[in-house]
Amino acid sequence: MHPTPNHLYDAYIFDLDGTVLLGEALLSSAGDTIAYLRSTGKKTVFLSNNPTHTRQEYADKLTRLGVPTQAKEVINSSVVMIDFLKRILPGGCLFVVGETPLQEELLQAGFIFSNDADRVDAVIASFDRTFTYRKLQIAFDAIRAGARFFATNADRYCPVPNGGEPDAAAMIAAIEACTNVQVEVIVGKPSHYMVEAILGVLKLPVEDCLLVGDRLETDILMGIENGIDTALTLTGVTTATVLEVSPIRPTYVCQSLLDLIP
Ligand SMILES: [Mg+2]
Repeated sequence: MHPTPNHLYDAYIFDLDGTVLLGEALLSSAGDTIAYLRSTGKKTVFLSNNPTHTRQEYADKLTRLGVPTQAKEVINSSVVMIDFLKRILPGGCLFVVGETPLQEELLQAGFIFSNDADRVDAVIASFDRTFTYRKLQIAFDAIRAGARFFATNADRYCPVPNGGEPDAAAMIAAIEACTNVQVEVIVGKPSHYMVEAILGVLKLPVEDCLLVGDRLETDILMGIENGIDTALTLTGVTTATVLEVSPIRPTYVCQSLLDLIP
């Protein structure tokens, strides 16, 4: 038997897809559990590696589904990418292999874009369902001309009803294969950049937080590597069978989010 928490934490960091949400709906007990935690004064934040929706879109969706949420309580890989780039390349010139929401967020944050390889300071690879040979050519030329190479996330595919969609790992691999240059930084889960963004919102020490997620190699690994207790939910991609043979060991295992409440 795997333990469930025997006390409440001061803050709960929830992965979204597979943990709180399944497609367009809340997972059963997610709404009640989050409402209870908030009623006892606990902080909640929500995480996603998916940069194809803005944090405002996620906040609006949660609010519509009965979990009132502000944009600042949502941290996705595009937000973390912006924080990262503001520190190392403020106002820099980018070539973005990514979809419109990521591009708009980067433009609003003061970055400029160019298709001219000689002007590009950094290539940003991301989940891009509009990926083309022309984009690959520009990324190739820019990296060969000295641009840096960063990525929002490294997920292989994004689960959707009845299957999956090739995710950022495929765009990263295409660029790495032709340039023979490895991506320098991936800011999404399980990176410490994501944890810094979370703690910047929560303003609490790691020992007061519990990270709740459905994926061992992103959510749970990020908690373990950063000293945050973790709860794996079996409501998403990880089955009990997968968990049994994994070297990644969560602090707790929950059948549903209700198990978070002692
Ligand atoms: Mg998930």
